[in-house]
Amino acid sequence: MNDTIEQVRALAHRTVTDVRYPIVKTYTLDPIWVLYDRVLRIDPQRPDDPARDRFLLSKGHGPSAFYAVLAAKGFFPVEWLDHVAALESPLGSHPDATLVPGVEMSAGSLGHGLPLGVGTAHGLRATGFPDSRVFVLVGDAELDEGSNHEAIAYAGAAGLANLDVIVADNGSASHGWNGGIASRFEVNGWSAATVDASDHEALYRSFTTDHPDRPHVTVAVHRP
Ligand SMILES: [Mg+2]
Repeated sequence: MNDTIEQVRALAHRTVTDVRYPIVKTYTLDPIWVLYDRVLRIDPQRPDDPARDRFLLSKGHGPSAFYAVLAAKGFFPVEWLDHVAALESPLGSHPDATLVPGVEMSAGSLGHGLPLGVGTAHGLRATGFPDSRVFVLVGDAELDEGSNHEAIAYAGAAGLANLDVIVADNGSASHGWNGGIASRFEVNGWSAATVDASDHEALYRSFTTDHPDRPHVTVAVHRP
């Protein structure tokens, strides 16, 4: 069994995917683990259940932590982690939703995950699954992409209560965010919490906080 953070961290280090961005797994593993271990309602035996929650990794350039958590939870064999980005491997250097069980979104180009999450949350609400939740993980520098800000404004105005965003904030945005990242969401009608990216209880509290009439953002701060 791979059911502790130490075991999953070892799995994340087993992959060689993040050769270009090895640092990403160090601060995205904890939030992704807390989600899959304690929050998301997704059955690895039924990854296509229409009533499942959704997790979208928009930061597709750093997939090792995500792959490790999916393997630990039984979406695919842990042995797959030894062949990431190999010619015949389903696990690419960016996740492919058509090849990997449990991956909802093929990621790579930044700035797409949050708009897609807005559409998914809307779609679930419109098709009779309002209790299915959508979590999107984006990077702080990814917020430089304007598409995010259209999505943030729209989701707030539409009151998408089944949408949660996690900003993995390692202080890498080109110009920083005056007033703090959370304020960009709050001014658009979101609720927000800023927590330490390694504090599992704080992450859990934020991921399960009540926000019945608005979307919620968790800014998960990591400063090496
Ligand atoms: Mg960053």
